[in-house]
Amino acid sequence: MTGGILIIVLVFAGVLGLVIGSFLNVVIGRVPAGVSLLRESRCPSCGGAIRPWQNVPVVSWLALRGRCASCREPISARYPLVELATGVAFVAVAWFFLQTPGAATAPVTVAYLYLAAITIALALIDLDTHRLPNPIVLPSSIVLLALFAVAVLLGADPWALARAVIGGAALFAFYAVLRVIRPAGMGGGDVKLAGVLGIALAWLGWGTLVVGAFAAFVLGGVFGIALLLSRRANRKSAIPFGPWMLAGAWVGIFAGETIARWYIGLLAA
Ligand SMILES: [Zn+2]
Repeated sequence: MTGGILIIVLVFAGVLGLVIGSFLNVVIGRVPAGVSLLRESRCPSCGGAIRPWQNVPVVSWLALRGRCASCREPISARYPLVELATGVAFVAVAWFFLQTPGAATAPVTVAYLYLAAITIALALIDLDTHRLPNPIVLPSSIVLLALFAVAVLLGADPWALARAVIGGAALFAFYAVLRVIRPAGMGGGDVKLAGVLGIALAWLGWGTLVVGAFAAFVLGGVFGIALLLSRRANRKSAIPFGPWMLAGAWVGIFAGETIARWYIGLLAA
């Protein structure tokens, strides 16, 4: 992809991310409560309808100075931050995956854009409610495998698809065993999410899978120790693990193969 086209595609990815981020705010607010995504958005304080010009990602929140147009109650800064984070994530994913030449690049890039979107939604829902809702987690394995299957039809390595299936099953089984050993530390949602992340990681390689899975425990462990040391938590505080699984997976996706090669190099030296 030439420089000019790449910049146009990245700008498009960023704008798409802002719009998807606006939708993710709705998902984060409604899916855990079981409220329909199709219902019209209203101000939680006064019930006033939100007009289209008040729904422009980031811009509307800034124009309204973070307050409802009807009742002037503050609107959480989390809304524009989620939109901004999704925009940045989409640019990063598009930039990373569009480097690979070939027809299979498009479905693979879409698969990881999809993963970026559910990452933001699931991390915040897990922090809010300590749950990873099935309506988001369960279809995600199928969405990823379908996009990877399209990539194979367009010329991607069929072995990568087999590896994704095996990796998904392996990480699912690993978390299922962890849950049996330490039921308090792991939820059923974590086990199902592990299956989704295993698919996404193993498509890229075994090194990505191992690094991505391991990084979750490193990040979660460091954060847990920091919380204990700062006395913001005691040993019994329930810290959701989903956000660390998701963060670890992205360490694996962006740097897994590089880290794995470096580590194998150390062993061989
Ligand atoms: Zn209001």
